[in-house]
Amino acid sequence: MKETVASLTASRERFVQQIPDPSTILPGSLLSRMVRCNKPGCRYCEKGKGKGHGPIWILSVSLGNRRVRQIPIPNEMKAEVEQGLQTYAHIQKVLKQIGQVNLELLAERKRRR
Ligand SMILES: [Zn+2]
Repeated sequence: MKETVASLTASRERFVQQIPDPSTILPGSLLSRMVRCNKPGCRYCEKGKGKGHGPIWILSVSLGNRRVRQIPIPNEMKAEVEQGLQTYAHIQKVLKQIGQVNLELLAERKRRR
């Protein structure tokens, strides 16, 4: 299948238009965790039975070199954090698509030399 430079350029332009506003992006992933309070007699933390308290939410960000930064996220900030993560993932996806189109454009330019 041979796509023309014009149609590749047009589809690249559509991808560029899809890039969301990056101002609120967040890296990492949101994890949930149950926590134990260690208070004697707490029914949530009873050994073998209780599941602990929570879940609490943690934004986990890889810093490279096996280092990870973990930031506990209060419930009222969870939706905002999820939105930032989604926008980040969306932008990465669109950039990947633009990169693919540019690879095709590069190959097409070489053929036409
Ligand atoms: Zn407890």
